[in-house]
Amino acid sequence: MNLSDARLALRDARRVAVLTGAGISAESGIPTFRDAQTGHWARFKPEDLASPDAYYRYPALVWEWYAGRYRDVMAATPNAGHELLARLEREKGDGYFLATQNVDGLHARAGSERLVELHGNLTTARCEVCAHIDALPAPADFVPPPVCSRCGGRMRPNIVWFSEFLPEQALEAASDAFTAADVALIIGTSGVVYPAAGLAFETLERGGTVIEINPDETDLTPRLSFSLRETASRGLAALMDG
Ligand code: NAD
Ligand code: ZN
Repeated sequence: MNLSDARLALRDARRVAVLTGAGISAESGIPTFRDAQTGHWARFKPEDLASPDAYYRYPALVWEWYAGRYRDVMAATPNAGHELLARLEREKGDGYFLATQNVDGLHARAGSERLVELHGNLTTARCEVCAHIDALPAPADFVPPPVCSRCGGRMRPNIVWFSEFLPEQALEAASDAFTAADVALIIGTSGVVYPAAGLAFETLERGGTVIEINPDETDLTPRLSFSLRETASRGLAALMDG
C-alpha cells in the first residue's frame, strides 16, 4: 500500500477507528513518556510515580507530580493533529471512534466527542472512598490533595496506574470499534503498552486496513498495512488533504 492507496482507503471508509498516544500531543509541548523528565522530577522515573504503591507510600509527592502535569496541560493548547481528528469525526459521524492513551484531555478540548480515554484524565480526580469523580479546581486555585465534593473523602488522580486494569466499558467500546473498522489509524504511540496496542490487530484480523503515523518505526510497524513517517499533524494532513 502507498500513500495514495491509504488516502483513498480513509476517504472511502465508513467505519474509522483511531488510537492515539503521547506523540500526538508532542506538538502541543507535552513531553512523551519516553522523553526525559526535567528539573526536580529528573530524579524519578514516571514508572516509579504512576503506581498504586508509590501513591500509598508517598501520596503528597505523587500528587505534586500530577498537579504539575495538570498545570502543564492546562497551559497547552490542542494542535493541528487533534483538530484534524475532530474534523474527521465530523466527516464520518457515527462511523468514527477515537481511543486515546493520553491523559491530557486535549482531544476533548479540540472538540472530539466520540472518544474514550483508556488511561484516565489528568484534569479530574476520583474519590478513594465513594469513587465519585470531580473536575480539579482551576490550576491557580488547586492545592492537592482534592477532597470529594460528595463525601469529603481524599481523592486520588483519576489515572490508570501501572498494574491497574483499564476501565472495562471503555476498552470494550474500543475493541468493538476496532473490530468493525474498515480503516484504523495508529498515531503517535510506541505500541508497547497492551491491551491498547493490540487494537490494531483486531482490525487487521477482520481484513481492515491499519495506517500508522509516527516519525519513528515502532514494534507495530512491520505488521501494519502502511506507515507514514511523519509527525501527527503532517501525517494527518497528508492523509486527509493530500
Ligand atoms: P510513548 O512515549 O511510549 O510513545 C510516543 C510515540 O510517539 C513514539 O513512538 C514516538 O516516536 C512518537 N512521536 C513522537 N513525536 C511525535 C509526533 N510529533 N507525532 C507523532 N508521533 C510522535 O507514548 P505512548 O505510546 O502513548 O504510551 C506511553 C504511556 O504514557 C501511555 O500509557 C500514556 O497514558 C502515557 N502518557 C501520556 C501523555 C499525555 O497524555 N500526553 C504523555 C506522556 C505519557
Ligand atoms: Zn467521595
